[in-house]
Amino acid sequence: MTTFRAARGTRDLLPTETPRWTALERPADDLAARYGYQRIETPMLEQTGVFERGVGEVTDIVEKELFRIAPRTEEGESWSLRPEPTAGIVRAYVQHGMQTWPQPVKLAMTGPMFRYDRPQAGRYRQFWQFDIEAIGDPGPAIDAEIIELGTRFYADAGLTGVEVQLNTIGDPACRPAYIEVLTAWYRQRTAQLPAFELGRLERNPLRLLDSKDPSMVALNGHAPRITDHLCDACAQHFAAVQEHLHVLGVPFRVEPGLVRGLDYYTRTAFEFYIAGREGQQQALGGGGRYDGLVELLGGRPTPGIGFGIGLDRLILALDEQGVTPAVAVAPVAVVVGADPDDTVGRLRIATALRAAGIPARAELGRRKLGKQLEAAARDGAHFAVILGDELASGDVQVRDLPAGSQKVVPVSGLAREI
Ligand code: AMP
Repeated sequence: MTTFRAARGTRDLLPTETPRWTALERPADDLAARYGYQRIETPMLEQTGVFERGVGEVTDIVEKELFRIAPRTEEGESWSLRPEPTAGIVRAYVQHGMQTWPQPVKLAMTGPMFRYDRPQAGRYRQFWQFDIEAIGDPGPAIDAEIIELGTRFYADAGLTGVEVQLNTIGDPACRPAYIEVLTAWYRQRTAQLPAFELGRLERNPLRLLDSKDPSMVALNGHAPRITDHLCDACAQHFAAVQEHLHVLGVPFRVEPGLVRGLDYYTRTAFEFYIAGREGQQQALGGGGRYDGLVELLGGRPTPGIGFGIGLDRLILALDEQGVTPAVAVAPVAVVVGADPDDTVGRLRIATALRAAGIPARAELGRRKLGKQLEAAARDGAHFAVILGDELASGDVQVRDLPAGSQKVVPVSGLAREI
């Protein structure tokens, strides 16, 4: 017989793990709402063009990692699973005429993303992101606000040592000249470039800057810096973002090699790392400004900025730091009975407790009272509600399991008592 397993690079989140996810997803929603970001949900698949245009064709995400869906119909359209949330959200912004809403439109989403990546620790083919986007504000204040939001999310989750790396990647006014300077500089050093990097040099030279190859890291330390080639507008923007971060008390480090993998970024680019872990391709999250993206996807020129925080890697990092959230999953009360056959009576009482908001389990097996009580204790319940002879006069016994004490309580006052 064939036995089936979850697809390579994907995994089941079992009940032993899901409380950790809930403990991040709920605060993510709350935090976004506190900062004025409203929930949006976009489909997990989009027309492939949304990503080819919106992420860029010469990127790892589109060239190598896109999960393309083979068309089954005559519609002739090509679809792909979303590798990141921004392009789809911006597609929705354009499609629904959000340009006419009060700007900026501030949106939040948490959900799965898909990349055909080589699976390893912290790198999956389906992973989850908490995503924030502010569309329609040119910054620089909102750039700092969003970075601060990200750092607060990590801090609230209990993670320590998170470092913000910050850079600017210029804009169409100054970046082309910088890319020329950079390309010329690499061309003078082709002997030192690994074959793979040599291949990308003519197509997307910026990507060489964030290569994790050790020989490239050493070489890149001497590469021309974008910050020395900014136009006035970009330089002022970058300085203002830093000033706002200082005032908000958000520590950051300017990292000239940070360019991010996506084509649509302009100006502000940032990533979140655990300090000391920068070399491992394991950014916890990242984001940046994408002032050209709305237009690229068919809208009016509109600035935007956002981030995507990976939840899988955050949970790994929390594990490493020994942070486990306290999430109660045990029932507060288990309803047991002296008459093993009276499942109706036990279920009725449990239903009333649940209706009153108390997590309760009814013992539905037909086993002896002693066994039922043992199971209640194993469940970690605080109270065992015991149905016995007193039920005839409208009462039940309530046993406080940790304390070992027991008393008679009228059914009508049971929820209040518990
Ligand atoms: P990126 O758009 O590549 O900067 O990704 C943003 C964040 O998503 C990263 O910092 C990671 O936390 C997370 N992420 C990206 N790719 C993966 C993956 N294959 N597996 C798990 N998390 C990922």
